[in-house]
Amino acid sequence: MEKFAKPGDFCPNEACPDFGKLQDGQQQNIKKAGRTKKGVQRYQCKTCHITFTQTTGTIFYRKRTPGHEILETLALLAEGSRISSLSRAKGFKEDTILAWLREAAQHAEQMEEVLMADFRVKRGQLDALWSYVGNKGEKTATPRAT
Ligand SMILES: [Zn+2]
Repeated sequence: MEKFAKPGDFCPNEACPDFGKLQDGQQQNIKKAGRTKKGVQRYQCKTCHITFTQTTGTIFYRKRTPGHEILETLALLAEGSRISSLSRAKGFKEDTILAWLREAAQHAEQMEEVLMADFRVKRGQLDALWSYVGNKGEKTATPRAT
């Protein structure tokens, strides 16, 4: 039976030997690593040393592509790369990238936090990112003068 896993219960890095292993008495590779400015719990895997938050752990768990790759792709999009070029450069389908983006937009606020903290994406670049999918999920879209 598949158990419901909370972020922080497992390492979301597929390249890690302890990827996806739930924490219990034997398995203790995840430790808490403080909080982000907005108070999102941050975790670190002692095996592969990546840090991740509730968000990255949740939405990208069980995808075939490692969460870090997904986030990096989103960061490059925010920095102005086109989906078509990223698709060619990284070998992901454009539809796949769009699906990640849509999923990320559902958690826009937390994703922005991660992208800015871990990938040095600037605030102003994030709007361009969400504009690809036309919504910002949690936030109410503010009408823009065009
Ligand atoms: Zn790990």
